[in-house]
Amino acid sequence: MSSDDPLLLIVSSPSGAGKTTLASRLLAKVTGLVFSVSHTTRRPRATELDGREYHFVDRPSFEQLIVDDAFLEWAEVHDNLYGTSRAEVERARGARGILFDVDHQGARQIKSVRPDAVAIFILPPSMSVLKQRLQGRASEDQATVERRFRVARSEIAHYGLFDYVLMNDDLERATERLISIVLAEECRRGRTARVAERLLAETHGFGGTVPPHAKE
Ligand code: ADP
Ligand code: 5GP
Repeated sequence: MSSDDPLLLIVSSPSGAGKTTLASRLLAKVTGLVFSVSHTTRRPRATELDGREYHFVDRPSFEQLIVDDAFLEWAEVHDNLYGTSRAEVERARGARGILFDVDHQGARQIKSVRPDAVAIFILPPSMSVLKQRLQGRASEDQATVERRFRVARSEIAHYGLFDYVLMNDDLERATERLISIVLAEECRRGRTARVAERLLAETHGFGGTVPPHAKE
């Protein structure tokens, strides 16, 4: 990992906690981040566009992509298949960062191949608020809302996989916290070492000395 590699950001949450809302606010406010457009067999919602929120494909096409090893990770979620193609990661080469909106299974798979990925879990302030948000989205029928709500508990149980747990109560505050995580992660020593090394190299010109512990 160096400052030139895109920051890998994983954002997960139980359905309805506000991950899509927060992710789009992050992308609008922090320039240079790329959204990883997953493939899914789910039907598009009224507001969704093929190639923008997802690449919408049928199950046989998705299964062929699995056979072709086209996915960095994939999983079955709420009876549909979802996957992150290797091509999406390639597309983000040279970007400041890439944002993966995946479930806990996807987060685990990405972390296993890229331990440097930063995994953020978004929680609703309460289960009743979660239900209200699921219902308020008005894009799914009641049965889908109920199914997603039932699965929420098992999603939350995986919070231990994540580096950060962020509560989405007030939208402004949660957006600020998410942006803060990204900016802090960009300052990790592994990403900024090159700057320090360049400055150390410059000190040679001034005849400076580096104490032995300085590079620990
Ligand atoms: P997810 O992507 O996690 O399934 P969404 O981003 O679609 O969730 O959010 C679910 C619903 O909750 C949407 O209608 C969204 O506008 C609303 N919402 C998200 N965050 C907040 C918040 N902090 N306060 C109130 N409503 C919110
Ligand atoms: P939705 O249908 O609400 O857009 O997403 C349902 C769930 O699938 C969410 O938890 C979302 O994070 C997850 N998801 C979306 N894309 C992917 C993906 O590419 N891989 C995995 N593992 N999960 C995904």
